[in-house]
Amino acid sequence: MYDCLLTDEERALKQEVRRFVREEVSADFLRRMDRNEVTYPHEFVAKCAERGLRGIRFPKKYGGRGMGWTAEVAAIEEIGCLGIALGCAFVMPSIVGEALQVFGTQQQKKQFLKPMIEGKLTAAEALTEPRGGSDFFGAMTRAELQGDHFILNGMKRFVVGAEGADFFLVYCRTNFGARVHKYNRLSLLLVERGPGVKAEYLYNLLGCRGGGTGRLVFRDVRVPRENLIGELHGGAQCFHQMMIPERLTSAAGCLGAWGALDLAVRYSDRRRAFGSRIREFQGVSFKVADAITRLDAARALTYMAARAVDADAPNARRLVSEAKRYSTEAAWDVVNESMQIMGGIGYTDVYPVERALRDMRLGMIWTGTSEIMNLLIQHEYYREVLEETYERRKLEADAMSPDDTERCFTDEDMQRVFDS
Ligand SMILES: Cc1cc2nc3c(=O)[nH]c(=O)nc-3n(C[C@H](O)[C@H](O)[C@H](O)COP(=O)(O)OP(=O)(O)OC[C@H]3O[C@@H](n4cnc5c(N)ncnc54)[C@H](O)[C@@H]3O)c2cc1C
Repeated sequence: MYDCLLTDEERALKQEVRRFVREEVSADFLRRMDRNEVTYPHEFVAKCAERGLRGIRFPKKYGGRGMGWTAEVAAIEEIGCLGIALGCAFVMPSIVGEALQVFGTQQQKKQFLKPMIEGKLTAAEALTEPRGGSDFFGAMTRAELQGDHFILNGMKRFVVGAEGADFFLVYCRTNFGARVHKYNRLSLLLVERGPGVKAEYLYNLLGCRGGGTGRLVFRDVRVPRENLIGELHGGAQCFHQMMIPERLTSAAGCLGAWGALDLAVRYSDRRRAFGSRIREFQGVSFKVADAITRLDAARALTYMAARAVDADAPNARRLVSEAKRYSTEAAWDVVNESMQIMGGIGYTDVYPVERALRDMRLGMIWTGTSEIMNLLIQHEYYREVLEETYERRKLEADAMSPDDTERCFTDEDMQRVFDS
């Protein structure tokens, strides 16, 4: 849709992924995933790897394409119509790869980043714990450094790929001092599936099925010190970096709501009521107008955020949070309206709109809830305005009656006026 804003190379990638989505992923595979007959989509991962789609943003020497965020968003927008579990499998190399690319050692890149992009290894990220996901820095999973290895103990919840992934990026507490600042508490460890690492429970999910989402338990796991990513106690930096791909890919994946809307549009063009095609009723066609407008606004924000990250713009983080919140909420509305347009049949599994609805609900919860996005958005914007980041005109001076006395509102102000 935003093809006119893409470079020739980005447009070609988008077309390539569009073809891949149309021709390479069978409806039967999607049905088996939704019936929980697939634990992890290895087959899909292999196909993505064959076509060089697992490392769009990463350097060619690691098997990537060396492109930017805009290209990646364009690709994910196409993949998004396949559902949130395949979307997650598609973007996981981007999220995990970010930490390896930015903070990893040469050895880690060789041993994990390259094979992951080549599809020889699959990865998952383990942040959330039973005691809470939003309050990330309160993580209780602990790793004690003993000589040349850590001993890892704890539990992570809701990990996509708990069943199926070969290795995990695990945030854990390594700095135990009672007064340590929360940003100096955690480290990021790369943990291979092996002794002591167990997926103990697989969740029965509303949507996002077939991705191996489970609870991971670590019992006295020996993790070599060389599997530390970044600095010891430097997990906060890794977290802040990983949240960009984490949230931007969520925003881009939800743009895949176009799939359900296209379906509803075709349906409304054929379905008849009161002697007319239902699209002739404004009550129906205006829903389409609202939905596509909302989806285009989400596209605009998501592509803008992608460009901002590519350009290392100072407000990129805020735009990413905005895109994540807006796009996931828009996608939910779009799919919901698509179902409404289809009436009763939309609520059955005769069409996959019900599956899209079950999937899309997750967008507003994972990778940081809408409420957490709001916390971040307002925080960043307050900072930008109060630090006068943009040196813009201040409208206070333009008032018709800029009465200083009337503008007082603190006790000190009042006292100053009173004393003068
Ligand atoms: C299917 C699925 C897949 C997932 N995949 C992964 C994964 O692969 N890896 C991973 O690590 N995690 C994963 N998650 C976890 C997900 O990121 C968390 O569920 C999410 O961050 C919310 O955390 P929570 O569930 O603990 O909710 P809580 O943190 O308990 O939040 C509960 C409610 O309180 C609100 N709230 C909390 N704090 C505040 C605040 N300060 N201000 C306002 N409101 C607040 C929240 O917005 C929410 O509405 C997945 C979750 C699901 C359901």
